[in-house]
Order: sequence, then C-alpha cells, then structure tokens
Amino acid sequence: MARTRTARLMDGAGLARRIIDTSAAAAADIHGRTGTAPCLATVLVGEDPASVTYVRMKRARCEKAGIRSRHVALPASISTRGLTEKITELSDDPAVHGILLQHPVGRHIDERAAFEAIAPDKDVDGVTTHSFAAMSFGLPGFVSCTPGGIMRLLDEYDVETAGKHAVVVGRSPILGKPAGMLLLSRNATVTYCHSRTSGLSDIVRQADILVAAVGRPHFITGADIKPGAVVVDAGYHPGNVGDVDHASARDRAALITPVPGGVGPMTIAVLLAQTVEAAGRQLGVS
Ligand code: NAP
Repeated sequence: MARTRTARLMDGAGLARRIIDTSAAAAADIHGRTGTAPCLATVLVGEDPASVTYVRMKRARCEKAGIRSRHVALPASISTRGLTEKITELSDDPAVHGILLQHPVGRHIDERAAFEAIAPDKDVDGVTTHSFAAMSFGLPGFVSCTPGGIMRLLDEYDVETAGKHAVVVGRSPILGKPAGMLLLSRNATVTYCHSRTSGLSDIVRQADILVAAVGRPHFITGADIKPGAVVVDAGYHPGNVGDVDHASARDRAALITPVPGGVGPMTIAVLLAQTVEAAGRQLGVS
C-alpha cells in the first residue's frame, strides 16, 4: 500500500545553530584561558564567484563565533609549488590552528598535493590522506565536514545505522567516499554508486539510508526511494534545488533533509567545531 504520510524534515539549520553556539562558548573559554582566540586560515585560489561566496560565508560565521580568520587570496595562476609552500607556511605557523583550502583550486594545480601540505592537526576540513585513513579506521581525527555533518544529523534524529543498507550516490574525495566510510564505521552495509554504476535505480531502491552526493539536480526521484527510507540530500544547485526531487521523495521517505537548511549549514558548523577543537588541543587546554 502507498504511504500517505509525508516525511519528517531533518532540521540541519537548527542543529547547526546549536553546534555553532557550543563552539562559540568553547572559543570564548579558550580565549579567556590562553589569551589567544582560535584562528582559521582560509586559502582561496583565483576568484571563482561561488568559491568567493563560500569562503566569505565561512569567515563571517567564524568571526561571529569568536574564531579569528586569516584570509590568504592567491592568484589563479599560482603553481602547485607556490600553493604548497604557502600552505606549509600556515602549517608551521603556531598562530594558525586550522587550515581550509577552498576546493576547486584550478585544473593546472595538483590539488591532492596542496591538501597534503596541511598539517594533520590543522586539517579541520578533513581533506588529507591522514584524516581519510582515520575516518576509514574509525580512529580519532578530523572528519570531512559535509560527511561529518551528515553523521551528526543522523545521530540527532536517532537514525540506526547498524545493519542498515546505506547507499551513497557519489564517490568524491570530500563527500561521497568519506560519507560511506563513516557509515561503514557505524556498521552500516554500504554500497557506493557512481557514474559507471549499472542498474543504479535498482540499488537506490534498496537503501534504508540514502546519501545523494551526485551533483545533478533532482537526479533521484520518489519512485527510486524505498518507503520509509532516510534520505540525506547533500546536493546544492541554484534555486535551492538538491540532488533529490524533494516533492516526490517526501511521500516515500520517513526522514529527509530539506534544501536549503539540511546538510549545507551542517558543513559550516562542523568546520567551526573542528577549528575550536584544533585550537584547544594546540593551546593545551582540551
Ligand atoms: P563531484 O566531485 O562532482 O562528484 C560527483 C559524484 O557523483 C562523482 O563520484 C560522480 O561519479 C558521481 N556522478 C556524477 N554523475 C553521475 C551519474 N549520472 N550517475 C551516477 N553517479 C554520478 O561532486 P561533490 O563535490 O561530491 O558534490 C556533490 C554535490 O554535493 C553537489 O551538488 C555539490 O554542490 C554538493 N555539495 C554540498 C556541500 C554542502 O556543504 N552542502 C559540500 C560539498 C558538495 P564518478 O566518480 O564516476 O565521476
């Protein structure tokens, strides 16, 4: 029989606000005890308008939470060597506690090499091989912010992951892949789908927990969603459109993240929380 109830919304905006409030209190405590405010360095290569906006937004949230931000704007023409040298400088600078390199950095640059120049204890965006290994092994370390935000949302809504079939559509290094590893470390049975997957709809239909991280508007529709599934839509496209067709998905899912106000705000909240955590450790007060 068809479900007649619509899905409950997972309020990422509200949870993000609470996480940021907690982080702001912790930042003030660190500042009070050490005389030093936590500091996030943001590195932007070029002037891509979306990246400029993302970095501006992240810096504004930091400042509001009592986290200093140091912005490094680099020309689009910078070489891999020039960029890794700059990031190494920040890694060695004791006044900087966290480093965010805004993705993407330009096709001529080896982005992986640039990410690897971030010291693991300052990798508050969870982009280094070290952080990925920690996520995969279930060891302490910083998580990729969007997947970390997704896990916090699942926890907030008491979503059981153990023994559930989690399907992650997308396998990018910053989103799909780590999201799957975090779900696996919580004992979900994880299937990844990507551009070479055959029979994608059939696999998605088996998902108890679906993470859409594919970067294509309305790629997944209600017809592909198992009734009662938990649907996490990480996609974001102009016009507040996600990777899931929300209108049809809501009639099938039990829980679903809205766009906007779902995964997006959680990403920034995790970035701030991890920056404060990094500062606390480096300043010896946590
Ligand atoms: P990405 O690097 O472009 O990766 C997209 C993934 O989807 C790839 O693994 C790709 O497969 C797969 N894919 C593409 N077309 C497909 C198709 N037709 N069928 C099956 N799989 C397909 O994107 P991303 O950076 O992970 O971002 C994904 C989405 O999340 C975007 O909408 C982005 O805006 C959003 N996002 C949101 C946040 C946030 O804070 N809310 C943060 C980051 C990203 P292959 O690996 O085979 O190419």
